[in-house]
Amino acid sequence: MLRAARLRTDFLARERMPREQRDAWRRARLGETIRATASDSPYWRERLAGVDLRGEVDLGALPAMEKATLMDEWDRVVTDPRLTLAGVEAHIDTIEGDALLHGEYRAFASSGTSGRRGVFVYSRDEWTWQLGNFLRLQDTLGVKPRLPRRLRVATVSATSPLHMTSRYGMSLDIGLHRVLRLDAREPTDELVARLERFRPDALIGYPSALALVAHERPRIAPTILATTSEVRTPEMTAAIRDAWGAEPFDIYGITECGIFAADCEEHAGLHVYDDLAWIEYESGRMLVTPLYTRTQPLIRYAMSDLVEVDPEPCPCGRTTPRWRGVEGRADDILHLRAGSGTVAVHPLALRGPMAACERVKQYRVIHDAGGLHVRVVAHGDEDAARDEVIAALGAALKARGVDERLEVETVAALERDAGPSGKFKLIEIR
Ligand SMILES: [Zn+2]
Repeated sequence: MLRAARLRTDFLARERMPREQRDAWRRARLGETIRATASDSPYWRERLAGVDLRGEVDLGALPAMEKATLMDEWDRVVTDPRLTLAGVEAHIDTIEGDALLHGEYRAFASSGTSGRRGVFVYSRDEWTWQLGNFLRLQDTLGVKPRLPRRLRVATVSATSPLHMTSRYGMSLDIGLHRVLRLDAREPTDELVARLERFRPDALIGYPSALALVAHERPRIAPTILATTSEVRTPEMTAAIRDAWGAEPFDIYGITECGIFAADCEEHAGLHVYDDLAWIEYESGRMLVTPLYTRTQPLIRYAMSDLVEVDPEPCPCGRTTPRWRGVEGRADDILHLRAGSGTVAVHPLALRGPMAACERVKQYRVIHDAGGLHVRVVAHGDEDAARDEVIAALGAALKARGVDERLEVETVAALERDAGPSGKFKLIEIR
C-alpha cells in the first residue's frame, strides 16, 4: 500500500512533465521491457531471435500479436514456468475473494470484445503498479480520503474477483472510504433501493447500468460520477447528467493492462496513461505494449477498439495525449420476455456465464422476435460445448424470470459486424 502510494506520486508527476521528458522515460522503459521479454519468455525469445535489441528498440519492426495467438501460446508466453493456462483456469474456477495463485499471482478472465476468453495474470509487483495507477485515477476523480465523514463510494459493476474493478476495491478497502459494491446484474429496482439507503457521494459503474438507475430518478445526490468498461452512448451520458446534474467521468481499462485512459475535470476527451503502456495507432486497431508487465509480457498486442487522438493540449495542464472518444465496445441492454411483460437485462448477465464456459472459443448472442440465438465456436467437442452453454445461459435467464426461446448452434467461425467500425458485437439486438 505504501509502495502504491509512492507510485501514485510518480504517476501524478509524469502526467504534467514536458512531453519530451516523459517520452524519454517511456522509451527507456520500453527498451527494458522488450529486452526482459526477449530474455525471459520462451515464446518471445523465439519470435525475437535474430532481432538486434540493443539501444533504442524499433517497435514497428517487431511482430504484432493477436489475442488468439496469445491464448494458443499462453504457456510459452508467460515467464514463470509454474504458470500454465490449465492451472490458471482451474484457479479461476474456484477463486474466492482476493485469492492469489502460488501466493503471488492475481488471475483475471475477460470475454473481451472479440468473444474469445482471455486469461491474464499479474504478480504482486505488477499489481502494485496497477494500484498506484488506480490511486492516480481516484485523484483525478476527486475521490480523496476525507474526515470526519468519510466519502461514500458506490460501485455498480462486476463483483466477481475475475474482474479487475472488483479486485481494486478488495485490495484498497482499508477503510479510507465507505464503499458499497453492487452487482450490475441485479434488478434495477433493487439497485435503486440499495443506493437510496446508502446515499453515495461518488457513484461509479457500467454506463448501461448507471443509465438504467438514472431513469428511475432515485433520491440520491452523488457529486462524483464515473463510468467504466463499456462505451457510453450519448443517450446514457444524457440520462446520467439529467438525473444528477454532474458530468460523468469516463474510464477506459482493459484486462490486458489495467486502466489506461480517463477524462479529467475538463471532460474534454480521455487522457491516455501512457506511462503504463506504449500505444501505436493503426487504421482499425491499436497495438498495445504494456510497460510494466513481466509475467505475461505483451508486445504490440492488437485491440480492436477505435480511438481518435486529439493533438491539442488540454486546458487542465496535463501533457498526456488525449482520445476524443472510444468506439465499439457498446453492447445494448436487452429487453427480454418474462411472463406477460419484459425485463431489462444487462448484457453482463449473459457475458458473465458465457465467459465461464471453457468449451467456448467464441460466441455471439442475437436477440430477435424468435428468441435468443447463440452461435458458438467450440473448443473440441461441439455437443459438449452446446450443452455447457445451454446449462449456463439457461440458469442465468431462469434466475431473471426470462422465458425467451433459447437456441444454441455451433459454427466453424463467426463474422464481424458489417457496420462502419467493423466491430465484433457479442450481443446483438435485431
Ligand atoms: Zn485534461
